[in-house]
Amino acid sequence: MKILITGGAGFIGSNLCEYFLNKGYKVTCLDNFATGHRHNIEPFFSNKNFELIEGDIRNIEDCNKAILGADYVLHQAALGSVPRSINDPITSNEVNVSGFLNMLVAARDAGVKRFVYAASSSTYGDSESLPKVEDRIGKPLSPYAITKYVNELYAEIFSKTYGLETIGLRYFNVFGRKQDPNGAYAAVIPKFVMQFMKHESPVINGDGNYSRDFTYIDNVIQMNELAMLTENKEAVNTVYNTAFGDRTTLNDLVANLKTYLAEFDSKIADVKVVHGPNRVGDIPHSLASIDKAKTMLNYNPKYSMKAGLKEAVEWYWKNLK
Ligand code: NAD
Repeated sequence: MKILITGGAGFIGSNLCEYFLNKGYKVTCLDNFATGHRHNIEPFFSNKNFELIEGDIRNIEDCNKAILGADYVLHQAALGSVPRSINDPITSNEVNVSGFLNMLVAARDAGVKRFVYAASSSTYGDSESLPKVEDRIGKPLSPYAITKYVNELYAEIFSKTYGLETIGLRYFNVFGRKQDPNGAYAAVIPKFVMQFMKHESPVINGDGNYSRDFTYIDNVIQMNELAMLTENKEAVNTVYNTAFGDRTTLNDLVANLKTYLAEFDSKIADVKVVHGPNRVGDIPHSLASIDKAKTMLNYNPKYSMKAGLKEAVEWYWKNLK
């Protein structure tokens, strides 16, 4: 069995590459290294089951080349980050919408068994209801959120019109090994870990009482595998929340980070945290209902936020210190 993993040099994509290579699958990674890194996939270069296609999903020929012989697609390539999409909505749209459409066309034409793609909790937009249930969404709050919602609309149309099997996974604040701590658009956990390790004060946007359903990478891998392989035909051509199903405030997250990091360097316990203004496009609270994934896919997340955070901190300490 061969899997095409787009965005395979990125955080989630490279973890998926590693997992499925270890399970004996053939894996093709399509990536243009816009935000991904060669060092994330370098360990796989010596694996005969791994193939890297350096290319761009905005180019249909690259998509067609990469998908050759693939049974499944796990589509991760996109430009993440709400602020990035606010600063440059055109490029986010080109990659996240046109690139996505190219991949759907390539998947349809190649006759793959299933197209599983990274959707996003940002699709819940301004809906204030908690927990978030798949069929109750609000209005998007950013260009990024629009792109991810359009993905779902296109996937549904491709299922209905061309019979392509698709499953969208609405990821909720994923974190873990290999997530990039650097750059203007770095996610909060790796960024704060790096700052704590340098004894620099992290800045929390707002008073820190905003909460998120922080989701460890291994839970996300499990969802991708279940979505890819489910034989339950009732479970396809839909979207699933991909989360742990619990929420943590930013203040509690930072407190946990400090505790775990202080086990490696006691001085980190004394690093002060600073509060700044709230960020445009941020919703106050996010919490997933994971009932649909449990019922339809037998999803059973193994890592709570704390268990995942402990592993992630250990990884960052070993790999980035
Ligand atoms: P990432 O930036 O680490 O990975 C994205 C990968 O896509 C990178 O390797 C990048 O180089 C590649 N890429 C970007 N543009 C490309 C293009 N034009 N052609 C080919 N490759 C391209 O981000 P991630 O956190 O691993 O996110 C993976 C997916 O999950 C994305 O679709 C993202 O929108 C989605 N998502 C992530 C989270 C999260 O919390 N990390 C939450 C919701 C959704």
